[in-house]
Amino acid sequence: MRLSQMLLVTLREDPAEAEIPSHKLLVRAGYIRRIGSGVYAYLPLMWRVLQKVSQIVREEMNASGAQECLLPQLQPSDLWKESGRWDTYTKAEGIMFSLIDRQDRELGLGPTHEEVITAIAREMIRSYRQLPQNLYQIQTKFRDEIRPRFGLMRGREFIMKDAYSFDADETAMKATYQKMNQAYHNILRRCGLKFRAVDADSGAIGGSGSQEFMVLADAGEDEILYTDDGKYAANVEKAASIPPDVAPSPFSSYEKRETPGTETIEKVCKFLNCSPTNLVKNVLYQAVFDSGTTALVLVHIRGDQDVNEVKLQNELVKLADQYGGKTIVSLTVPDVDAQQKWAAKSLPLGYMSPALSDDYIQSSKNIAPKFIRLTDQTVADLQDFVTGADEAGYHVVGANWGDQFQKSNLVDVRTAKADDRALHDPAQTLKTARGIEIGHIFQLGTKYSKALGANYTNEQGEEIPLAMGCYGVGVSRLAQSAVEQSYDKDGIIWPVAIAPYHVVVVIPNVNDADQVAAAEKLYAELNQAGIETLLDDRNERAGVKFKDSELIGIPYRVVTGKSLKDGNVEVVKRATKEAQNVAIADVVSTLKQWITEATT
Ligand code: ATP
Ligand code: MG
Repeated sequence: MRLSQMLLVTLREDPAEAEIPSHKLLVRAGYIRRIGSGVYAYLPLMWRVLQKVSQIVREEMNASGAQECLLPQLQPSDLWKESGRWDTYTKAEGIMFSLIDRQDRELGLGPTHEEVITAIAREMIRSYRQLPQNLYQIQTKFRDEIRPRFGLMRGREFIMKDAYSFDADETAMKATYQKMNQAYHNILRRCGLKFRAVDADSGAIGGSGSQEFMVLADAGEDEILYTDDGKYAANVEKAASIPPDVAPSPFSSYEKRETPGTETIEKVCKFLNCSPTNLVKNVLYQAVFDSGTTALVLVHIRGDQDVNEVKLQNELVKLADQYGGKTIVSLTVPDVDAQQKWAAKSLPLGYMSPALSDDYIQSSKNIAPKFIRLTDQTVADLQDFVTGADEAGYHVVGANWGDQFQKSNLVDVRTAKADDRALHDPAQTLKTARGIEIGHIFQLGTKYSKALGANYTNEQGEEIPLAMGCYGVGVSRLAQSAVEQSYDKDGIIWPVAIAPYHVVVVIPNVNDADQVAAAEKLYAELNQAGIETLLDDRNERAGVKFKDSELIGIPYRVVTGKSLKDGNVEVVKRATKEAQNVAIADVVSTLKQWITEATT
């Protein structure tokens, strides 16, 4: 491609809308343009990157035995009602765009395709002889994200590879899952990314085990906890660990104490001269179930620990049927305004005990009359502890479960932290890193096949539900995360495997016939040799061309400049800026070798 003919506009200034380096660079270098909130145009350079990523994904999926297909983006609501996800995906904080067609039928724009694929499987897969099956597609997904941001990282329209597998039973499903795990490792390695596979929360998709693939970068939205022995890595949403030890309690008898102005953990510990590990704090949440019922939740957790809201949400979903629902549509810490809607009298905030009376809740149709009380494991064995006295300005000390307070449902809703000891080996401590989730693989089991009646006949002649897995890669997010991991002050440094072009041939002065002739010849030869090459034949100053080539991040730059008279050109590696003179006759073979080395 000749740059003189390409629609390329580079910007010197950072775009105002962009916060993180990869977003700034992709806009500045002319790869993407914002069209609306979370909606971007992929310009020609970006499209080439996306096609390269897609091709690597495709090759690895095909090698694993999966088959490519293309499913509809317009999906009838009936399918989503069958799975029970229509309401959770379209109402409240649901992320599915929905619409009504001219015949008054409800449709959703596919955020994911479990329903569609399971409907196909239920019609097409009848016998164990047809198993296993694994189908995938690479396609635009639509999600009305609450906070679209960071360019392609969290778009409302983005490209995903999604795959769905069908197996005879759980054991076979796990074998398929392992194959996908391997395929994902291969994809990320081939794309030239530094990454980590981590244990993950399965979220609204459901199912049992799942793993996320995290590209390591400081701007990542996710926190990863891992151990140096390589045996443990998890998303903080899921991570578990051993909390620090409890300090001996300075209190040996139960007593109510006046503790004025101590509504924070820090203040009460200072006032009572005890450790936060001696404290049971009671954290208030407000959960709204999909049935419309609001429940107030009191979590009892150790003073030095924090509630993990993902774990808490999972615990509350387990209780949903008691509240006439299937799931939770919102989980918040109620502010003063929210409290006014249900509190019968003002709450002793900062001084609440595990036994806070249900009388604080107004009787009302849509509000559960009793608190949901959850006891985190960190306080299960605590003795002679301090907690609120349910009266502003007072605490109790030397309290014990079974005496003054009753333990409720025991759960793990604690946030694991860096420096905690690891469960698998207490000598290991957790380290922290930031990551960008670019892939997620799930063992779904029979959740969707049961809901939609996707059964098959096994060898014994019994009709049983298919065992499923699903596997996503954010193709457009992956492409941007490569930039987030690899750039410098001058621009993007693409991994060679996914760079839009391998080489840019720069003509410093287009009015110099020798420079033009040499460049044209090399351009033709490089392309002929299968090396994807740009020719910067624009009538611009050499400095502008060099700057642009660095901003765009093409791995190798060939300059037909001063050294031509000795039969050489200058070849510069983008990553290191290392420059060397190469004989014109050797340019193709040299670059071919470098590219092969960098992509295998
Ligand atoms: P996240 O927690 O980041 O919202 P998710 O759990 O909703 O991701 P999945 O439903 O597992 O994501 O989708 C599979 C992959 O698609 C993700 O691993 C991610 O790489 C990508 N992805 C998800 N949402 C977006 C988005 N809004 N924009 C770009 N890529 C996305
Ligand atoms: Mg999401």
